[in-house]
Amino acid sequence: MQTSPQQPILKVALPVPLRQVFDYLPLENGITPLKGMRVVVPFGRRKLAGVIVGVAGGSELPLEKLARVVAYPDDGQVVLTRETLGLLEWCWRYYKHAPGEVVFNALPPLLRKAEGVIPPLPVQYSLTTTGAERLLEPPGRIKAQLRLLEQMSQGPVGETVLRAVSPGWRKTLAKLLEQQWAVVETRQRPTMKVIPGPSLLDEQVAAVEAIGQSLGGFHCHLLDGITGSGKTEVYLQTLETVLAGGGQALLLVPEIGLTPQLLNRFHKRLGFEPVVTHSGLSETQRLQAWELARSGMARLVIGTRSALFLPMPELQLMILDEEHDASFKQQDGFRYSTRDVAVKRAAGLKIPVVLGTATPSIETFNNAASGRYTWHRLRKRATGALQPRWRVLDLIHQTMTGGISAVAMDAIGKTLDKGEQVLVFLNRRGYAPVLLCHECGWHAACTRCDANLTWHKATHRLLCHHCDSGMRVPVMCPECGADALQGAGEGTEQLEQMLGKAFPETPLLRFDRDAVRKKGEFDRLSEQVKTGQSCLLVGTQMLAKGHHFPKVTLVVIVNLDQALYSADFRALERMGQLMVQVAGRAGRDQLPGEVILQTHYPQHESLLTLLSSGYEAFARDICADRKAACLPPFGYQALLRADAHDKSDVKSFLEQAKQVFPNGEAQVYGPFPAMMERRSGRTRWYLLAQADKRSVLHRQLDVWVAQIQQLAGARKVRWSVDVDPQDY
Ligand code: ADP
Ligand code: ZN
Ligand code: ZN
Repeated sequence: MQTSPQQPILKVALPVPLRQVFDYLPLENGITPLKGMRVVVPFGRRKLAGVIVGVAGGSELPLEKLARVVAYPDDGQVVLTRETLGLLEWCWRYYKHAPGEVVFNALPPLLRKAEGVIPPLPVQYSLTTTGAERLLEPPGRIKAQLRLLEQMSQGPVGETVLRAVSPGWRKTLAKLLEQQWAVVETRQRPTMKVIPGPSLLDEQVAAVEAIGQSLGGFHCHLLDGITGSGKTEVYLQTLETVLAGGGQALLLVPEIGLTPQLLNRFHKRLGFEPVVTHSGLSETQRLQAWELARSGMARLVIGTRSALFLPMPELQLMILDEEHDASFKQQDGFRYSTRDVAVKRAAGLKIPVVLGTATPSIETFNNAASGRYTWHRLRKRATGALQPRWRVLDLIHQTMTGGISAVAMDAIGKTLDKGEQVLVFLNRRGYAPVLLCHECGWHAACTRCDANLTWHKATHRLLCHHCDSGMRVPVMCPECGADALQGAGEGTEQLEQMLGKAFPETPLLRFDRDAVRKKGEFDRLSEQVKTGQSCLLVGTQMLAKGHHFPKVTLVVIVNLDQALYSADFRALERMGQLMVQVAGRAGRDQLPGEVILQTHYPQHESLLTLLSSGYEAFARDICADRKAACLPPFGYQALLRADAHDKSDVKSFLEQAKQVFPNGEAQVYGPFPAMMERRSGRTRWYLLAQADKRSVLHRQLDVWVAQIQQLAGARKVRWSVDVDPQDY
């Protein structure tokens, strides 16, 4: 190792898929390089932005071989705090992922580019005394200007609010500034003006108190409450305490859960606009949210998965709503679990974390059952509404129309006659999942995936739901030329058509990714539902989450049977969660609800437990089964995934990798084909490493991953490590 007293060596994380950091010499321009600062460095022929993750006294490489930093783009500011950097370092070690990709995942997209710069803090506009005086005079002909002034009289506002008040706000605002009725200032911390909520039920009070008492130290809370039991109320009242004390808070929600209704509710109750961030925002907006979080100006941030890594110097509470939701696990690249990293972050910061859900994941359930997390149960609906009644329909003796049994049709009709609303749930979009030739048995399959093409009748397309490739629907069978093509099975498009014919007088709203493409479309539809007039809702899991449809009194679950006998050991857990979530849509108001479940397996043991004893008993049984089989959370797993065009490349790489698996208590199994072996033209297989102890597994994984990188076969495939995998 070469050292030099004057020259620190910078350890730099670069956005490349290599499991290492890179050594550079500092640029001597008066800026002292620190951990967490961005640099621009030469890398091969390119110039890349990187982040300093360490400063060392020497390098393994000869100093004359090291390149020098070209620039510090942020004038000496750090973009990652010591705390976030520590968390990211833990992440790349735990998930065995390339440090650069982990670090860059935590930066807003604009700062991943060498030319991106940290913007100044956003501004806000406030009313001056002369502006206030003008407001008292008659409006005259400057109504637009007065509307903005009116808004400002309630407190300083940013661009988003002004835009909402008046689309032509920029011109109007210029006039206000010119007349000195308003001034521009740097954004300040918003003032909280709490509108008190309802007085809490005992169960809620207990949760709020326990969470409140745990502030200032690390603690995990499971807030286990059925839909409508008032979990959000518990969040709100806890947030009031944290925010009033000057702390920042972070609320993480699933992708589909970030709705304008939710934001409005927080805005109204707390009296200021929470900062929002998710991948659907523009890069500029995301950078702005990041800057507000980092400067401490954002008191409350509400965001999806990626918000987990926001730098927040005063962070005092984290909440994960719908903690069981699959979107909290990143499914490609850096495959982290938002929940697990949030718990890790809370431990590092010595703050509490609240995991809220009606249907805890088995991992969280087990942590609560074993006493590691404090378990708060909310078992009553806060508004006093009754829990829905379940009715199981054995499909064996039923006459069916387009997937719906005669009994269910009858119940739908009766509910609509009473002027109420019905929700029909089917987790399959399109018209039919298969297009079949009744002459020769040909069916339309994707050429790039192990999957059938779904027939979308309205657009005359056959579409693969896994790689999005597709074709026009052929008129004749491409195999035998017969005019005998027919759909098999049902999707939401078909249900819509069939129900539309059966109930021509009733408005029918379809909620799925095909019907709700445009931004704002979902909200338009849900507003219509909320008017309370009788209607039929047909939809996929888009309807299962977070949305309150108080006038729905009947839910029909068309088919969930696949999950009952799936090869994936998590399928049952997910089915139970989905069923409870969908059922939670029914009867949230004063009207009692009913849920009809259509199934071919009414005697399935887990189904019976779920329906007769509830989710807690169901989860307890799953826990027992997992324990007996040493499956997660009672065993620890990691996958080595590989894919390539050529199956033989994939298999030979995995065979080589298996050979170099280090000796120890952890075992390696496989290679196995992935649940969907071919996808987007690539063949996918994996090895499964498993142990009873986490530490044992990780010790062996570290040695193993270093070996895998050296393998000749590794260059012919795309490979990745998935620690605590969620799918196979
Ligand atoms: P969850 O988040 O568990 O679905 P919410 O917090 O959204 O439940 O509460 C459901 C409904 O009940 C909301 O309209 C909420 O305002 C109301 N609510 C919550 N807690 C109470 C309470 N203690 N008393 C009366 N209404 C309540
Ligand atoms: Zn045919
Ligand atoms: Zn495909």
